[in-house]
Amino acid sequence: MIDRRNFYINGQWVTPAEANDFEVINPSTEQVCATISLGGEADTNAAVAAAKAAFVPWSMTPKDERIALLEKLLEVYTARSGEMAEAISMEMGAPIALAQTAQVGAGGAHIKNIIRALQAFDFERPLNDRSPDNAILYEPVGVAALITPWNWPMNQVALKVAPALGVGCTMVLKPSEVAPLSSALFAEMVDEAGFPAGVFNMVQGDGPGVGTQLSGHPDVDMVSFTGSTRAGVAITKNAADSVKRVALELGGKGANIIFADADDKAVTRGVRQCFNNSGQSCNAPTRMLVERPLYDQAVAMAKDVAEKTAVDIASNEGRHIGPVVSKVQWDKIQALIAKGESEGARLVAGGTGRPEGHESGYFVKPTVFADVDPDMTIAREEIFGPVLSITPFDTEEEAVAIANDTPYGLTNYVQTQDNDKARRVARQLRSGMVEMNGLARGAGAPFGGYGQSGNGREGGEWGIEEFCEVKSVSGWNHVDAG
Ligand code: NAD
Repeated sequence: MIDRRNFYINGQWVTPAEANDFEVINPSTEQVCATISLGGEADTNAAVAAAKAAFVPWSMTPKDERIALLEKLLEVYTARSGEMAEAISMEMGAPIALAQTAQVGAGGAHIKNIIRALQAFDFERPLNDRSPDNAILYEPVGVAALITPWNWPMNQVALKVAPALGVGCTMVLKPSEVAPLSSALFAEMVDEAGFPAGVFNMVQGDGPGVGTQLSGHPDVDMVSFTGSTRAGVAITKNAADSVKRVALELGGKGANIIFADADDKAVTRGVRQCFNNSGQSCNAPTRMLVERPLYDQAVAMAKDVAEKTAVDIASNEGRHIGPVVSKVQWDKIQALIAKGESEGARLVAGGTGRPEGHESGYFVKPTVFADVDPDMTIAREEIFGPVLSITPFDTEEEAVAIANDTPYGLTNYVQTQDNDKARRVARQLRSGMVEMNGLARGAGAPFGGYGQSGNGREGGEWGIEEFCEVKSVSGWNHVDAG
């Protein structure tokens, strides 16, 4: 049994102020795999105090020094990537191959891209040519609380920690209590990289406890949150009294508009993307909208892909999807599949219950619904499981209208061989990201949403700016100018 009950505060592993054990469940087996502690007010206060004390000296270190430490962190992260993959796979059920590649890889790629963006980032720049005495300074916002979810644990931790460290913020990371092992390992890596004490702190805890204590804390200057829209709203309200900055990366209900002239692989690719990570991605293309002439064929293809999608325990090698993360998620997904059936969507693959051969573990059948009306619950709510909805459309305008008819606006997808149409549609989609014809976003592209998908932009220079205050100084060249 893994014991991860200590917190990382002020450069030390410390025991919680009060014992409050919490069991981590391996979703493939439903067995307890580790014990952590849920922190309380005293732990939160200690971590925030350490971050506050470390802020001034850390914020004044030269950029090159901070980059050198991030490079060291990347080196340690890469060297210990095998351990990280095992931790992620065990805590949230990603198949080991996916954990080793996409899950761990995303974290490393973000650290690398933030280093690159930092190298190019000017923390001190002139206002413009007409005001030579005016300087614009980008300064670290202060103590940042970083609150992360369980679905892509290192992806989200790296997207927050790397820029926060890079600009000179100090921080308290509170990972998801459901998937806390990867972040405990990450804290070891930060320690090994040699960051000064107090710059990075990690306290385990839940939303009502450490999460709420952080968002309301008078000495926390900013909360960077990734998770559900529900929690994002609660955090924003709780942070309002102290007027702290709140950056939110929330849920999604991505549309994948497949025109009749899409490439041959568009449907298969869309189904696989929806099922990837067992459907637990905020940017998953969960609503497939198909132009009528291709519709029947697309439904048949999606059924075929779903039926061929293997489901297996996370530790098994090979290509398959794993379980979903928890009983809570499993129950929610089952209820939504049942709702899809009762509201009249046509079930073409999967359905409720566990897939054959799995009597235990939070496994969900890869599920496809066709003839989904855009008003049905399964077309509106984030399911966060391997469940695809397919809806036909007749015109470009109708497709755009259906895609935009959601409170979310994270990633939408467009598949067509007509470049003019692709660009026209991309411009009209109300989302922070549009991925077209299977091309992934480039390294360092901003990640974030419109509407209830949040207000933040992570990655690249946008991710750096998110952790900065902008200071306008006049008289900057006064003495030099004579
Ligand atoms: P969640 O909101 O339940 O939890 C996320 C984190 O917030 C956890 O650390 C949790 O302990 C904490 N938390 C919960 N309530 C809180 C509160 N009131 N105050 C402070 N902290 C609180 O979400 P989850 O179930 O862990 O993750 C799944 C959700 O995350 C999905 O909705 C998904 O779409 C979203 N997500 C968004 C992005 C993005 O970048 N937009 C990326 C990944 C996941």
